[in-house]
Amino acid sequence: MNLATPARPASLPAAGSPIRLTESPRGLQRIPPQSGTAFILRRGQRLKVIDPLGEQVSDLFAVKADEPACRLSSGRSLDYAGKLYLSTGDALYANDSRVMFSIEEDTVGRHDFLLTPCSQEMFEILYRHEGHHPSCFENLHTSLARHGIRPEDIGTTFNIFMNVTIDPQGRITVGVPHSRAGDHIVLRAEMDLICGLTACSAEGSNNGTFKPIDFEIL
Ligand SMILES: [Zn+2]
Repeated sequence: MNLATPARPASLPAAGSPIRLTESPRGLQRIPPQSGTAFILRRGQRLKVIDPLGEQVSDLFAVKADEPACRLSSGRSLDYAGKLYLSTGDALYANDSRVMFSIEEDTVGRHDFLLTPCSQEMFEILYRHEGHHPSCFENLHTSLARHGIRPEDIGTTFNIFMNVTIDPQGRITVGVPHSRAGDHIVLRAEMDLICGLTACSAEGSNNGTFKPIDFEIL
């Protein structure tokens, strides 16, 4: 198993900088707790995201590799699926309605596509947190920066294993993930993609403990 390099702050390329494509990592990769990584996923490749210990969320964001304005879209995906919970056989769409991913396997069946990645501001607003708090948003934008992706390019993530429920009054609750050790989801890339992937940093989304996330490109 390889250890994915944790995200660390990086200076952002100027707007319009050419995107640098790097080879996809080989073999099983581990994202340490409260960190993230970025990689290229070629059309036809499959991304397997595994919860190695259980009850751990992983946020996924993606843009088209040669066209970063084409980005993952929660709104398009939920609209076209006609449901809130996407699983095997469903597609994740881009903002221009092209299919980015097809979900080929899913052993959990509960993932969130409503909420944005946890961020410094979220911890301050919801939890009155003081001082720096690791977050999926920071880990995504620092990881994706080397591919020319800016923080403002990152929208709603596909929150793998995140258990969000809506009651009849529309109230949103974040519960304990249903995933158990070894549970996984497999997403097939339908175009060349730049992907960011995290091991989520939010106490409330991960039953109070921070655990790693494993992934493999197949
Ligand atoms: Zn998070």
